[in-house]
Amino acid sequence: MTDTNTDRTASVIEVRNPATGAVSGTVPDTSPDDVAAAVRELRLYQPEWEAIGPEGRKEWLLKLQDWLIDNTEQLADVLQSETAKPRVDALIDPAFAVDLIGYYARRAAKFLADDHPSPHSPLARVKSLTVAYRPHQVVGVITPWNFPLAMPAIDVFPALAAGAAVILKPSEVTPLSAVELARGWAEIGAPPVFKVVTGAGATGGAVVGNADYIQFTGSTATGRKIAAACVERMVPYSLELGGKDPAIVLADADLDRAAHGIAFGGMFNAGQVCISVERVYVEAPVYDVFVEKLTAAVSALRQGADGRASAHEVGALANENQARIVQRHVDEAVAAGARVTTGGKRTGVGTFFEPTVLVDVDHSMSCVAEETFGPTLPVMKVADEAEAIRLANDSIYGLSASVWTGDKQRGERVARQLNAGAVNINDVFANLFNFAMPMGGWGQSGVGARWGGANGLRKYCRAQAITKPKLPTMAKEPLWFPYDMNKIIFSLGAMRAAGARGLRRIDLPALLRLKDGK
Ligand code: ADP
Repeated sequence: MTDTNTDRTASVIEVRNPATGAVSGTVPDTSPDDVAAAVRELRLYQPEWEAIGPEGRKEWLLKLQDWLIDNTEQLADVLQSETAKPRVDALIDPAFAVDLIGYYARRAAKFLADDHPSPHSPLARVKSLTVAYRPHQVVGVITPWNFPLAMPAIDVFPALAAGAAVILKPSEVTPLSAVELARGWAEIGAPPVFKVVTGAGATGGAVVGNADYIQFTGSTATGRKIAAACVERMVPYSLELGGKDPAIVLADADLDRAAHGIAFGGMFNAGQVCISVERVYVEAPVYDVFVEKLTAAVSALRQGADGRASAHEVGALANENQARIVQRHVDEAVAAGARVTTGGKRTGVGTFFEPTVLVDVDHSMSCVAEETFGPTLPVMKVADEAEAIRLANDSIYGLSASVWTGDKQRGERVARQLNAGAVNINDVFANLFNFAMPMGGWGQSGVGARWGGANGLRKYCRAQAITKPKLPTMAKEPLWFPYDMNKIIFSLGAMRAAGARGLRRIDLPALLRLKDGK
């Protein structure tokens, strides 16, 4: 995306408030060489961070949690200055960060504990088996602009809890909150295993070129480039990319809840959420009533970028480019026969776009087929559940979805037929507040997943298999050199006996023929 609310000179990026255009701060445009140097330095300190173990790291992470709580107001101020979000939205980022850091700080010891799997066969019982989870040295986290504090927190905290050092490259559009996070880490006196490097694509590219694991959130186009670069270097990666999340409203749903939930899911953060509701399918018998209720709920929203008050629900779009995409999607839909039931245009100064509901839309329109990332809700009438599922699955994306119904079993049945990494029944975003669940996209929406209990830490680790003898050892194992055919035949027979179906499959005569070379 073109970052029209940032001005880049040779080595400095100016960050602007998209509601007013005022400069909110400046950050360095970090050169690739400086990124490489930062990663080298992190590598020096990471072994000690790993060595203090999850309990040692917990102390630091909980200190940071206290710092986040004590500095919430300041963090919300900075966040608002670079996003023009309403106050309530700006307060959600630090609260979310506090919740997440507590979860992983306190559970890391359990999640990273060695596994001792049972041997797969009686023969393997001669060894004791251990799987140790050893962190990658430096995890590179690259984040977008929609949640300038929560997006970094979402992946930086689990990676630190896992024992990795972390280099964070926040969006050049909203880097100031990430810089605050680095300030917090320094202020609590934590070990120097977390660094923020500010800059745009070239700085991000240098993170990809130097770190040992890449966790990326952003557009599918950039994600594809990053995946290719990671494959080239043979480093693992995890990507959370675009989405076009469907909501399915079945005729037996509580329509008031569905209308309010979908209005929230579509308009929260002005629709700039990867898991925003971006298209709605409604069963024919309730379509008219639902559209009326949704239109009422959306047109009641108050738009603006308040200061410390909380008078507004919908803020500005992050930048000019984003406003242009939203306008294009609405204009193209209207030109093709769609009708706007509320909203539909830019408003005031800055990048505000009215919360918008569109009807008479179909899958040939950009507002239904492409990711909008803005405050629009296109609504379509469907004959029945089957058509809703078919249309919901007609997308290159598969991040999340919601199903609205009076019958939770039916909701789950529908969920299991949707191609999406998460499905919330009678709710939106609920999976995002459940760190015990994996959050990942299917199709073009991503590769891998974050969180999911222990997996959220183990993904940043390399699993190391360690075997130890359980019995007293001899000078030589039966299979070691020089070969002794009697011992080998015995060993092969034992492997067949243990692994095949029944003693009959040992087939002693055939084994003996092997021995004789016949
Ligand atoms: P958006 O358009 O939603 O900001 P992008 O995918 O363009 O999404 O950007 C997400 C993040 O990826 C930002 O921090 C951006 O600076 C970074 N980025 C952009 N291009 C590259 C690249 N080629 N390599 C690494 N990071 C990049």
